[in-house]
Amino acid sequence: MQALAELKEQIRQALPELDVVIGWQQGYDALHTSPLFIRSEEDLEKLVVNEFCVVNPASYLREMRGGKKVGLVLKGCDSRSVIQLVQEDLLKLEDLTIFGFGCNGVLNHAKLQARFGDIGYIKSIENSGASVTIEVDENKETVPFSELCADKCLTCSYPNTLQCTHFAGEESSKEAESEQDKALEEFEKLSMEERFSFWQDQMRRCIRCYACRNACPMCVCKDHCLANSRETKWLSEEVDVQNNFMFQLIHVMHLTGRCVECGECERACPMDIPIMLLRRKMAGVVRDVFAYNAGTNAEETPPLMCFKVEEPTIEERH
Ligand code: SF4
Ligand code: SF4
Ligand code: SF4
Repeated sequence: MQALAELKEQIRQALPELDVVIGWQQGYDALHTSPLFIRSEEDLEKLVVNEFCVVNPASYLREMRGGKKVGLVLKGCDSRSVIQLVQEDLLKLEDLTIFGFGCNGVLNHAKLQARFGDIGYIKSIENSGASVTIEVDENKETVPFSELCADKCLTCSYPNTLQCTHFAGEESSKEAESEQDKALEEFEKLSMEERFSFWQDQMRRCIRCYACRNACPMCVCKDHCLANSRETKWLSEEVDVQNNFMFQLIHVMHLTGRCVECGECERACPMDIPIMLLRRKMAGVVRDVFAYNAGTNAEETPPLMCFKVEEPTIEERH
């Protein structure tokens, strides 16, 4: 892949000035990559860029405060979390070196498993952008990419890394399949009672492992999270529907206007709870009310971080 060779060369040249560059390496099987912390040219050889590079390397920035010079290899969606952190004055773009590329989407494990069963070993995988050909054991199948990709890739409008220091390869021309969030639209056709009952059932399954919070690149107050605090009476450590619900609603509210819809929270959930429905709902509300897409313009002040006597995007109601 041309972008990978260029990325490696760009990182190789920048490495002497950086403490670490975070990217991806091959994981324990063909379906997984794991984070790669590049500190030497030897580490750099392990770098991979493919449709299994799902983890957002920017999630590690929370643990890397303290004057470190950090480089990041970021997909378009990942770069939005960095920009949003810059907008919130939690990071400075000039302290980071961002290596970008054109992304054609990542694959979703649950969809792969639903299609091919438990895949232990993949002989080969080819992605043309429109379709993906996978060879598993004796079977070789070609499936439209949109049937196997992460949901976020279906509506992605930012496949090219935003505000990067270096860009490798050609820009992606991938377009959103649809602007409609069909799953959310279907959910909103349900009555209030049905929706409430749906979330009660989901929250009954939540084991409050906090994987959704820990995977979120925007959850920056993790060490002081009221979910773990003994100081407030907002919720207890009890794992039950009521407290789980309260935790999720607090999480969603803390992310309103900040959530970059990277999907890491839902992907990290071991119980497959569709918590992105809540986040996408609120992101849609912020888009409708403030015409604001989180993490797309480092110069912009997020709407919930400023006060305007007259909100230009809200029609006065009499
Ligand atoms: S959401 Fe966009 S940038 Fe992110 S993985 Fe999918 S296509 Fe790539
Ligand atoms: S990751 Fe899933 S199970 Fe764990 S706290 Fe979040 S919603 Fe609950
Ligand atoms: S709440 Fe979920 S989708 Fe939103 S920024 Fe955090 S991990 Fe990404």
